Amino acid sequence: MSSILFIGLGNMGSGMAVNLVKAGHDVHAFDLSADAVAKLADEGATPVPSLKDFKGAVDVVITMLPAGPHVASVYTSPDGLPSSIEKGTLFIDCSTIDVQTARAVGTGAKERGFPFVDAPVSGGVAAAQGGTLTFMVGGEASDFEKAKPYLDSMGKNVFHAGPLGNGQVAKICNNMLLGISMIGTCEAFHLAEKLGLDAQTFFDISSTASGQCWSMTSYCPAPGPVPNAPSNRDYQPGFAAAMMLKDLRLAQDAAKTAKAPTPLGAHAEQLYALMESAGADGFDFSGVMKLLDGSLPKN
Ligand code: NAD
Repeated sequence: MSSILFIGLGNMGSGMAVNLVKAGHDVHAFDLSADAVAKLADEGATPVPSLKDFKGAVDVVITMLPAGPHVASVYTSPDGLPSSIEKGTLFIDCSTIDVQTARAVGTGAKERGFPFVDAPVSGGVAAAQGGTLTFMVGGEASDFEKAKPYLDSMGKNVFHAGPLGNGQVAKICNNMLLGISMIGTCEAFHLAEKLGLDAQTFFDISSTASGQCWSMTSYCPAPGPVPNAPSNRDYQPGFAAAMMLKDLRLAQDAAKTAKAPTPLGAHAEQLYALMESAGADGFDFSGVMKLLDGSLPKN
């Protein structure tokens, strides 16, 4: 079993760190929030009150942080990782961040003698707690092999997507497609209803016809056809529109850098930005339905 320093014990990281404890690893847990650290200590992790004062060597550092600047500050700033972390320690960043930062941080770590992979996840808090996340991993094949056993303890699918940064590429391209398909599904169900075709009948037809997609069959944005979908609980997330907007913005930034036209991705970003400015980005991302039918709460 290995010794792991886990940094970032929020909605996602807390469940992931607990699964590493359950797998028998010696997990040292750090977050800027003392409460989050204390909760992990209750689950069997060793609390790390301050990274600066951490004196131990570990086999692996895992981060699960909000965005690129947080990840860069941990891996590249002089006040980032403890000086006791020895060369050769494996770095795994599971945060969803911009491709450029992932590549820059990963390349810098490799140059300093630390194997690094970017390993963003698909799946929400329930998957983090249940150990059923999907990991999309960027990095050298040999580094991927080193990271895989740890990722296997936190997820059910682990894919090698190619060199550094390609995990983030897979993640933002997948979520851009998801955002677009969800908006299309919302538009189709809304139009059907307006024209007198009820949601269940349209679902029965379209889910076996060429309009079928995950947003419809697993997450139907119209209440009724898929009982577990957020649409049946007034669009409580699930996967919040704010999180979808974050990923769509990352996709748009990357598209500009790559000079890749993504007109529907840009529209999708703008629609979720409208939800944000309406103060409705705490609803599930399938709540675009509320935007279309005019039922968003007034600010
Ligand atoms: P969160 O805001 O709940 O947790 C982030 C944690 O990082 C917080 O506890 C915060 O205190 C801590 N933190 C910030 N800066 C730190 C630092 N320098 N050192 C130590 N701790 C620090 O976020 P989350 O929902 O857990 O998401 C984490 C990442 O996972 C994000 O990149 C997000 O996009 C991605 N993600 C989230 C979901 C989801 O459903 N929540 C799904 C897939 C991917």
